[in-house]
Amino acid sequence: MEVMYKSTRSDQTVTASQAILKGLASDGGLFVPVTLPKLNISIDELKEMSYQEVAYAVMKEFLTDFTEEELKNCIDKAYDSKFDTEEIAPLVKADGAYFLELFHGSTIAFKDMALSILPHLLITSAKKNNVKNDIVILTATSGDTGKAALAGFADVEHTKIVVFYPKGGVSPIQEKQMVTQKGDNTFVVGINGNFDQAQSGVKAIFGNKDLEKVMNDAGYQFSSANSINIGRLVPQVVYYVYAYAQLLKEGEITEGEKINVVVPTGNFGNILAAFYAKNMGLPIEKLICASNDNKVLYDFFTTGSYDKNRDFILTTSPSMDILISSNLERLVYKIAGNDDKKNKELMTALSEDGIYNITDEMKAELKDFYGNYSTEAETAKVIKNIYDTTGYIIDTHTGVAAQVYKKYKNETNDETKTIIASTASPFKFTRSVMNAIDPKYDAMGDFELVDELSKIGNVKVPNAIEEIRNADVRHDTVCEVSEMESIVKKFLNI
Ligand SMILES: *Cc1c(COP(=O)(O)O)cnc(C)c1O
Repeated sequence: MEVMYKSTRSDQTVTASQAILKGLASDGGLFVPVTLPKLNISIDELKEMSYQEVAYAVMKEFLTDFTEEELKNCIDKAYDSKFDTEEIAPLVKADGAYFLELFHGSTIAFKDMALSILPHLLITSAKKNNVKNDIVILTATSGDTGKAALAGFADVEHTKIVVFYPKGGVSPIQEKQMVTQKGDNTFVVGINGNFDQAQSGVKAIFGNKDLEKVMNDAGYQFSSANSINIGRLVPQVVYYVYAYAQLLKEGEITEGEKINVVVPTGNFGNILAAFYAKNMGLPIEKLICASNDNKVLYDFFTTGSYDKNRDFILTTSPSMDILISSNLERLVYKIAGNDDKKNKELMTALSEDGIYNITDEMKAELKDFYGNYSTEAETAKVIKNIYDTTGYIIDTHTGVAAQVYKKYKNETNDETKTIIASTASPFKFTRSVMNAIDPKYDAMGDFELVDELSKIGNVKVPNAIEEIRNADVRHDTVCEVSEMESIVKKFLNI
């Protein structure tokens, strides 16, 4: 049966490949499957499969207009030796939980799980819809997404990628990761401005109709690698299914046994993927949503009121510093009974007043979810505690999740076996992690800390870090915000 995708804000309906090409619906809504598909295969069969085979079994249920050959080709190109382990997403048992390590890809954060396949899904979608133009990805980044998108699109034929980052507004390791990016189709530009200006600049370029025509004449069109693209969400469902099958294979659980999942959450993409996995039939009991001090989601789950009118707090888990969780819209639409008018009303209230309240009936539909948060001090403490008792070192985002899981267990005494999504390697946030373990480390330089972490944690320094240690800078363009468009044109020779 063909799975079609419809907007959360109107009845605009498209195929999977069209939804991937468009990214966002033209009414500003997000594309969701009209009906969520079921897993068409038993867990018993899945447990004998490789990550790539599980990926096919799951993704084919969502991307029904892709042929078997097309989809398998995308999967094989994405989940290859770019990952430093054949398992792709290994499970590590520690401190009474199973950490699902989603950071073994080329930029050592979980965004690689989806951004390594998105370019292939996108060019396949373009071919299927007779798009002859090359795709130009434009992204503004505050650090992590830019690098993961660059790594995903580097040297992918018929694509080019331009990333704008705020010069001086990203961490030294993040900047070094981006400006050393290889691939002739990549272009990294620092702007003299902040992230918001970078993002507004990119949106203005996207909205420029004259430029669109010039681009089209030259054989190009823009697209986005943003996390609201359904082509980023679907690949994330895979690792929950894979993890469950692995637990069964290892004899950690019995067939049909329910598990909980804890996800450190920002834009709500990762945890929504776990919710979709549950809807496919995977035996998941609770979806535990972990926030940092920007606890807008905790407040939402406890009160039914989503209120972004508050201070934005900079934390040591920056990828979760977010006040508008875009993908929550997909859940709100669902708990409103797939009602696009109701959802639109709430989203309009959010953009106009910064707040909306869901109805009691909608709130009752949230029973699968539990929300809580971890303060900066609690996160540091749990990182140290897990290291001291087990020797396992987790990053700050995973630390937030580990702490929220402790709060959940204290409150509920629930002993259900639990997976914690581990979203970044501790090597990506070395300074915060090492400071949590012992403040004496703050005196060390960035790469000294890397070596020390490797030593005390007994883990090899990931390639992603080794690569940038002595890598040549390949991108040194810096521009004013007002020059962003002309810089893009120059890169494309138009
Ligand atoms: C992006 C990110 C998150 C948040 O994931 P969402 O899907 O946006 O909720 C958490 N941790 C890390 C390390 C990330 O990069």
